[in-house]
Amino acid sequence: MSGRAYVSFAEVKERVSIVDALEVFGITDQFRKEGKTHAGVCPLPEHRHGPSPNPNQFKITIRDGESVFYCFGDCQRGGDVIEFVKLMTGLDNRHVRFWFAEHFSDRLTLQRGRGERAKTSKTTPQKKKARETRGPSAPQRADVQLPTTTVSTEAAEYKPIRFRLQVDPVAPYLRERGLTDETIARYGLGVAQRGMLKGYVAIPVWESPPGEFPYGYLGRWAGEDYDDEAGRPRYKWPADFPKRRFLFGLNEALDGTEGQPIVVTEGVFGALHCVQCGFPASVAAFGASLSREQAKLLIATGRPVVLMFDGGQPGRRAMKKAALTLAPHTFVRVVRLNERQQPDDLSPEEVRKVLSVTV
Ligand SMILES: [Zn+2]
Repeated sequence: MSGRAYVSFAEVKERVSIVDALEVFGITDQFRKEGKTHAGVCPLPEHRHGPSPNPNQFKITIRDGESVFYCFGDCQRGGDVIEFVKLMTGLDNRHVRFWFAEHFSDRLTLQRGRGERAKTSKTTPQKKKARETRGPSAPQRADVQLPTTTVSTEAAEYKPIRFRLQVDPVAPYLRERGLTDETIARYGLGVAQRGMLKGYVAIPVWESPPGEFPYGYLGRWAGEDYDDEAGRPRYKWPADFPKRRFLFGLNEALDGTEGQPIVVTEGVFGALHCVQCGFPASVAAFGASLSREQAKLLIATGRPVVLMFDGGQPGRRAMKKAALTLAPHTFVRVVRLNERQQPDDLSPEEVRKVLSVTV
């Protein structure tokens, strides 16, 4: 399909219920069904929960044939399915149409660019050019995975989630990556069975110290047949996720490892490999760079730091930069891997050899 899919809000309200939307978010089983009403703890990201959230504070029901919700707790607000999805995702009116078009294409009438086309024809060439050069944040196609992969400039500041995904911890892909039951359980890993991360390893990202819920989930396609064109990119982050503010595995790394240096890798699987090779104080930076916030988190631990990014020019450059940032505050050691080598390519013996140097 080319062009932008337009869905009518009237049709969305008629054919999509709030319970259908819960299904997409993968949180249906957090609600109890009582007749035609569903009740549970409010899942809206803006809700400020006390220590024991009330399981009756949030109701979903049918009123005048329309699916509606209301939060009797902190939010004190309600609305229809469109309002619900907007509050859950932070998407605006225009982008929420793409969300419904993407997830409910089987039951909605997708019309190409209604309204949009009329506007486009009136647009002067200069204006059109300006719009085209606005950058990658402007969605160009209706079939892009908007809510999870595209940075939306309209989205407000990112808010942490208030739910946990239901995942399959025995999915074969996790074993193929060499993860043990213990590692899978300790880091809460598994493959999502439905929702936006369906078919992805859902990797919870926690604040340090951890809150009641993860801050969000990083998705890694559970297979090596990832394909951007086919709508299954290798990695999926929630839109606008502030990943540079987190270090994967930091809470686990600090637990019971007093005095051990913190090993920092680029990727999550590299860090988990180091953990399984006997270095439980291993974390991942989610990429070949260390942000100021991530450096602060490391310095705050008071531990020595060992940087082991992927082999090759980008990794080396990033480690040099990170070492310069960290060096005035803590002891830093850099492990240089061979070109194109990643930490999880090393055998356990090799990992122990490069990391076991006394720091
Ligand atoms: Zn609420």
